[in-house]
Amino acid sequence: MDEIRIDGLKVFAYHGVLEEERKTGQDFIINAVMKLPLQQAGIADELELTVSYADVCSFIASFMRDNTFKLIESCAEGISTALFKKYDNLCELELEVKKPQAPISEEFDCVSVKIFRKRHRVYVAYGSNSGDPEHHIEDGIASLDRDPMCRVKRMSGIMKTTPYGGVIQDDFLNGVLELSTLYEPQVLLKRLKEIEKEQGRVETVRWGPRTLDLDIILFDDIEMKTDELTIPHPDMCNRDFVMKPLAQIAPDVVHPVLNKTIKELAEVKMEKHII
Ligand code: AMP
Repeated sequence: MDEIRIDGLKVFAYHGVLEEERKTGQDFIINAVMKLPLQQAGIADELELTVSYADVCSFIASFMRDNTFKLIESCAEGISTALFKKYDNLCELELEVKKPQAPISEEFDCVSVKIFRKRHRVYVAYGSNSGDPEHHIEDGIASLDRDPMCRVKRMSGIMKTTPYGGVIQDDFLNGVLELSTLYEPQVLLKRLKEIEKEQGRVETVRWGPRTLDLDIILFDDIEMKTDELTIPHPDMCNRDFVMKPLAQIAPDVVHPVLNKTIKELAEVKMEKHII
């Protein structure tokens, strides 16, 4: 993809773990690679169709002067989130924050952090059958959408479903939403668990009643399996209450393991998917 690059932007600011650093300040050097489509701007020769690198430099410099962080990691994360919020056409960002005068007793040239961020397309399934399900769903989704790293892009209809897994309990309300997020999978899972907790979720039996359940169904086209997280969700194709709403908003998305579209998978009554 096309790129706009900023090399060696120098900003005097007040970030650091030591109180002294936050009082006296020091120089920071920023390098940024912004990935976005530039062909239309190039053909039309119009500044409005691209991103002004002068504006980006001022924006980063102001952000660094107006905020104080202990870590350059947080400084980089903050700049990244703010840039994605400001520029809708920004697809990916590589951002380096260097600290050449860091308080280190050994001789060194520079210390730095470099982060790589992009907008991910994620499908999240939600369900609720205790407390006030409509309220938990509405509130949980609003909380996700308020997160500066997330934007809810599309929502399926909400369906009423009979519980799954043999526990006697009230019917569920279920649905799926499309999320654009800067979070990586593990961090998104942590965030979803926080939102479940905000809605009063307490651990009960497996497949038991819940005020709000949020599951990651698909995350770009990645496949991953750790103790905490399996993507695509291993049980998605066995669950009508996931596949039906998912097919409403993502019929042509391809399941990265089964290599079939969601529409195809939702139509075929599959016996059992073992991934
Ligand atoms: P649940 O009962 O649906 O909230 O899921 C319980 C656990 O499943 C979570 O604590 C996660 O660690 C794990 N898990 C594995 N894969 C996923 C996924 N794709 N989305 C959400 N949770 C997952």
